[in-house]
Amino acid sequence: MSEAAVQSAASFDVAALRAQFPALQQEVNGQPLVYLDNAATTHKPQRVIDAISDFYRLDNSNVHRGAHTLSDRATLAFEAARQKVAALLNAAETAEIIWTRGTTEAINLVASSYGRRVLRAGDRVLVSAMEHHSNIVPWQLVAQECGAEVVAIPVSAEGELDMAAFRSLLDERVKIVAVGHVSNALGSVNPIQEIIDLGHQAGAKVLIDGAQGVPHFSVDVQALGCDFYAFSGHKMYGPTGMGALYGRRELLEQMPPYHGGGEMIKTVSFAGTTFNDLPFKFEAGTPNIAGAIGLGAAVDFLQSLDRKAAAVHEAALLAYTHEKAANFSGLTRVGRAKQIAGAFSFLLEGSHPADLGMLLDQQGIAVRTGDHCAQPIMKQFGIPGTARASFALYNTFDDVDRLFAGLEKAKTFLM
Ligand code: PMP
Repeated sequence: MSEAAVQSAASFDVAALRAQFPALQQEVNGQPLVYLDNAATTHKPQRVIDAISDFYRLDNSNVHRGAHTLSDRATLAFEAARQKVAALLNAAETAEIIWTRGTTEAINLVASSYGRRVLRAGDRVLVSAMEHHSNIVPWQLVAQECGAEVVAIPVSAEGELDMAAFRSLLDERVKIVAVGHVSNALGSVNPIQEIIDLGHQAGAKVLIDGAQGVPHFSVDVQALGCDFYAFSGHKMYGPTGMGALYGRRELLEQMPPYHGGGEMIKTVSFAGTTFNDLPFKFEAGTPNIAGAIGLGAAVDFLQSLDRKAAAVHEAALLAYTHEKAANFSGLTRVGRAKQIAGAFSFLLEGSHPADLGMLLDQQGIAVRTGDHCAQPIMKQFGIPGTARASFALYNTFDDVDRLFAGLEKAKTFLM
């Protein structure tokens, strides 16, 4: 184990953390589970599971109806969760947090509402070549309708954004820049502060896809100055189908509603309808109340930790993984950006990633294989996909040892 790994192991009590996650305590295929698919979704601590179950056991009721005690309790918990998310991101006000089903819906909301309002024929939306499909396709749908164009910012063979190319792409045609904080496929950490500043200098609005950012970093949307920041609860120890969009009030005010229905209106008549205030203007229908409360509990969980120590621990896990990978014959890393977080993508000579995933699963080791919903960057690298081990703060150095022992064993089947 490297010195950094030893130090981080000493200062971060992973065993105590793991004890909070029931799903990590099980055996899979006769072996203690090694869960390395955290970029797809993380497991949930007991406090998140309890928050969701307590809501249904005790407070279950619709929100913002105020007719009785349970409804009041549900509303208070639902809105308290929104405040927790606002604090997590350091939003200027709670009304700038819109509940969504996750990152995908958050980006679709911005593309459909803001994009459709501002994009004209000949305009451009810049995304990076390493984006997740959910930060490409929503823009394509809207751009097609408006006669605008979605243009990819090139990515180097190492998996780093080509910032010189980005600068040269920034002209008056660019209305929106939409870039991932961290690539789920390669683990590359993008220089989002510089991207935001350059985007703004060029007169564009900037959206950050934070699906892989929030789980690993403290995010301060005011310090960053981004216009929109999207994330998913289930990748940061919260429930699935629940996430949020942060948007600057000034922009959210200008944007038309995304969905129509109950809750998002002030008055409805056949002569005309008036819309509710922020954030409710964007939240038509009965929301995922239990999901929001569960996400609030996940925020509490994150805030209860020393996040700096957690980040050091995760970085040490990745460094240890890279050290082992360098000495593992036949293994090629995919993505070698200088700044990496969360994910380790790789290929093993003579094997298809899908077969490798299956052979690891037989040993109780969960990794993801495939294109990771990032087909353009896979195409650029000339590969159909990779195997990807992705880390959360509850992973251990033993998990990394098990992964490489598992790969060694898999090799004997593949020969
Ligand atoms: N962006 C990135 C970078 C992601 O990793 C993911 C999930 N893999 C998404 C967007 C989409 O998130 P969700 O499916 O939770 O909406």
